[in-house]
Amino acid sequence: MPDLAERAARMLLEGGTMLAEPCHYCGGVRVMKDGRALCAGCGREPEEREVPEAPERDAGPEVRRLSSELAEERDPERQRQILARINALLGA
Ligand SMILES: [Zn+2]
Repeated sequence: MPDLAERAARMLLEGGTMLAEPCHYCGGVRVMKDGRALCAGCGREPEEREVPEAPERDAGPEVRRLSSELAEERDPERQRQILARINALLGA
């Protein structure tokens, strides 16, 4: 099984966005990229409506640190908080 939190973090770094609406199946946090929304909780990634592709972002050291933290975090609530912080940093 792939490391979903790590994948979600990578998607954010590559221009994805965190969705406000949680996963329909498990309530987990979801990251949207290239028209797909990956759930960091259960791994489902149904296609969503098309969104324009965002340019690759230059992730700062804080974002890289949070990404490694996220990859090791197993608590869904903590994953959600870390993803929200990454998202806020990327959007700043
Ligand atoms: Zn889910």
